[in-house]
Amino acid sequence: MPRITLPDGTVKDFTAPVTAAEVAASIGAGLAKAAIGAKVNGELRDLSTLLTTDCSLSIVTPKKREGGADPDGLFLVRHSAAHVMAEAIQRLFPNAKLVYGPPVDTGFYYDISFDGGRSMSTDDFAAVEAEMAKIVAENRPFTRYDMPAAEGLKKVQSEGSKYKLDNAERACVAGSETLSWYATGTPGSGWEDLCRGPHVPTTGKIGAFKVTSLASSYWKGDETSDRLTRVYGTAFATKEELAAHIALLDEAKKRDHRVLGKQLRLFHIDEMVGQGLILWTPNGAVIRQELQTFISDELRKQGYSQVFTPHIGKLDLYRTSGHFPYYRESQYPPLVEHDQLSQLAKEGCSCGDLVNRMEKGEIDGYLLKPMNCPHHIRIFASSPHSYRDMPVRLAEFGTVYRWEQSGEIGGMTRVRGFTQDDAHLFVREDQVAEEVLGCLSLVKLIFGTLGMNEYRVRVGLRDPDSAKYVGDPTNWDKAEEACRAAAKTLGVPFSEEPGEAAFYGPKIDFIVKDVIGRSWQLGTVQVDYNLPIRFDLSYNGADNQQHRPVMIHRAPFGSMERFVGCLIEHFAGAFPLWLAPEQVRVLPISEKSNDYARELYNALRAAGLRVTMDDGNDRVQGKIKDASDMKVPYCAVVGPRDAEGRKVSVRAFGTEANLGEIGFDAFVDGLVREYRTRGAETVKGGMGAPLP
Ligand SMILES: [Zn+2]
Ligand SMILES: [Zn+2]
Repeated sequence: MPRITLPDGTVKDFTAPVTAAEVAASIGAGLAKAAIGAKVNGELRDLSTLLTTDCSLSIVTPKKREGGADPDGLFLVRHSAAHVMAEAIQRLFPNAKLVYGPPVDTGFYYDISFDGGRSMSTDDFAAVEAEMAKIVAENRPFTRYDMPAAEGLKKVQSEGSKYKLDNAERACVAGSETLSWYATGTPGSGWEDLCRGPHVPTTGKIGAFKVTSLASSYWKGDETSDRLTRVYGTAFATKEELAAHIALLDEAKKRDHRVLGKQLRLFHIDEMVGQGLILWTPNGAVIRQELQTFISDELRKQGYSQVFTPHIGKLDLYRTSGHFPYYRESQYPPLVEHDQLSQLAKEGCSCGDLVNRMEKGEIDGYLLKPMNCPHHIRIFASSPHSYRDMPVRLAEFGTVYRWEQSGEIGGMTRVRGFTQDDAHLFVREDQVAEEVLGCLSLVKLIFGTLGMNEYRVRVGLRDPDSAKYVGDPTNWDKAEEACRAAAKTLGVPFSEEPGEAAFYGPKIDFIVKDVIGRSWQLGTVQVDYNLPIRFDLSYNGADNQQHRPVMIHRAPFGSMERFVGCLIEHFAGAFPLWLAPEQVRVLPISEKSNDYARELYNALRAAGLRVTMDDGNDRVQGKIKDASDMKVPYCAVVGPRDAEGRKVSVRAFGTEANLGEIGFDAFVDGLVREYRTRGAETVKGGMGAPLP
């Protein structure tokens, strides 16, 4: 009879099979009431699951014991809400045919065919939500029933939905011996859906929900197949959580880098230039240049050398590195030289032949570089190296090109050309640990300066059961230990993920949280034993023998495009002074103060600040609003009284109050100091005082 082990190690013996709900009740009335599902031997199941054999069991509730929403609980609530939404939609739209409705990261969706009838629009959301509220209030149980696969398929066939039949057939092909349904109520007497489950026990357990948006989709994602409507919704265990989620969505919308990028004229994507190719307009270019200067200054201090390499390289280079032809799908097609192309045309070579012959290496050509590593490797290999010159650290803001499917590109975060903050370190084996540490200390400094203090790292290790890795296992052990030790020194949360290493070496990924709590995966530090072998790299050791160096690839911020996209959203476009495209705007109150304003403007410009002057005829309130719309950090308002006392009335962006009058020179010096210290001292914080 079942012997059940609870998460705290307690063992409970039962004399007869027992449901998870009954076990919860045997632990306490509070838990029984809060329970919405169960994990049986680690697998998420219905609370009504009958436990017949020994197992481990944890009862799932909406909240984790240590606080916060339980992801399993959310999954159950959202999966269940998808059923309720589908039932509500079918009540209102009898022509609606259900296709597929899974939970997703932020909620759930249901793909629906409205073929041959009125389709749903955003105007229908309120009615659908009202119908859902009724179903939730009825507190109907989700009741599961199973059928053997063959019998189940017959049932689905007789119901006549090709979509459900396809789902059922795929389940059978995947090896399901039974098909299962969930009825919202008693089977046979109400709404039901073919579904694997699991679900919350009753509709009443869905605390709060919302229909959020519509999108169009295609059956099985195939553009030539049936057009469907994807209805998105979200659900939470409580109204408070839903309200917090909606507030977050509103905030995210305000911070969208695509919207702010237009408003603040930071970048442009032009159809004539091409999709996914970012044009950095003057304002955005300032931000990128400031970041690059900051990063380059730090790299110089760490002993890096700057290099520049071209945007293309010969196919042979990438055959050696292994990038061609294996990653062909994610690259722009190769370029072929004129003469060769005309010769091939004369021979009647077809496109298919061309591709084949290129892949075989019979024809050479050039590739837009998908990575900077091969170029840097050839620089390293261009001169002999002694163990004494190691490590060699080559850095480049190198632009690379990747072919992303058009559906996947957008804004600055999914692009086809991007500039990595790239560097390659060629190190001796005994230097790996120290160099990985150096990479991480730079990351820490830069995140700290940008106020991104919440980030975590993921250390990707070998899968102990796989043999796909190149290099000596003892070296791997050392490199993995180096990555682990380096990650620990950061003092931020980190996780070790076996199986997440590249086949050529372990790696460290950075995931940063922005101010509204969203995670951005930025760049990586990777240890590589493979490319030095492929390119037969060596250095002369103390023993006067040739030794193989290890490579470290590092692009800790990923790409300048993605990083700046992330920063736009992090700062909501209100960049700190050192990054702001326009740092200060001088606003004379009237024409009478123009001369004094001009003097201030000239002084700020001479001090190296990015300053503009608005001497238009508008009232000063209007001028302040214009500057505020562009999120200019400081406005220097000057009138006749300021001119007389050689003062400036200062307003800082985001503060209602006037910062008051500051002396002419003190203001210029204060801004310069804020700029040079990258915000460690600020004018806003009280002339030169550090920010609280
Ligand atoms: Zn379901
Ligand atoms: Zn690389």
